[in-house]
Amino acid sequence: MNPIVGVLALQGDFQEHIASLRRLGADTREVRTEAQLAAVDSLVVPGGESTSMAKLMDIYGLREPLVAFARSGKPVWGTCAGLILLASRLQEQRPEPLGIMDTVVQRNGFGRQVDSFETDLDIAGVAGGPYHAIFIRAPKIVEIGPSVEALATLEDGTIVAARERNVLVTAFHPELTTDDRVHGFFLAMAAEVAAR
Ligand code: GLN
Repeated sequence: MNPIVGVLALQGDFQEHIASLRRLGADTREVRTEAQLAAVDSLVVPGGESTSMAKLMDIYGLREPLVAFARSGKPVWGTCAGLILLASRLQEQRPEPLGIMDTVVQRNGFGRQVDSFETDLDIAGVAGGPYHAIFIRAPKIVEIGPSVEALATLEDGTIVAARERNVLVTAFHPELTTDDRVHGFFLAMAAEVAAR
C-alpha cells in the first residue's frame, strides 16, 4: 500500500502542497482532526500565519497528537509558518511552538527590507541543479541542536532547509513553484520510514 501523505489543513497554503504532492502521484489527505491525523503516514505543515494556525491547532485539540505523531518517527515537513510551529523555541512570545525540532527560530527574521525574496539554492539530497526558492516573510533559524543537519544555506550562512531524523523544515515555499523536487525529497523520506 502506498503511504498516505497528510497535509495540515487548518490555515495557509495547504492546497498548493496537495497539488504538488498529487503531481508526484502521492496519495494525499487534508488533516484537520486527530482521527484524520491517525490515518496518515506523514504530515506536511504548510506556510501561512503561524499564530492563526497555532490557535486553530489548540481549538481542534491537535497539539498533543501532532507532537506524538512526530515523536513516533513519522515524517513531518514544515514550510515557513510550519517551520515556526515545529521549533523548540521562538524568539517571540507567540505562538507557542510544538517543540518537534531542536531549533530556535525568529519569526519574520529577514526584516522589512527583504520581506520577500527569491534565490537559487543548492539543497543537499535534491539533485538536478539549484532550486529556485521563494521566501515570504520567512522565519530565520537562529540556532540548531546537535542532531539537526543543515541541508541548504544562504550565502551569509543562514540555514534555510534542515533535517532532524524524521523532521524536515524549509524556510521557503516549494509549494509555490512547479519544481516539485523538494516534495519528492520528502516523499523519499516518507518511503524510507515506511520501508523500515
Ligand atoms: N511570517 C509568518 C508567520 O510568522 C510566516 C510566513 C509564511 O508562512 N509565509 O507566521
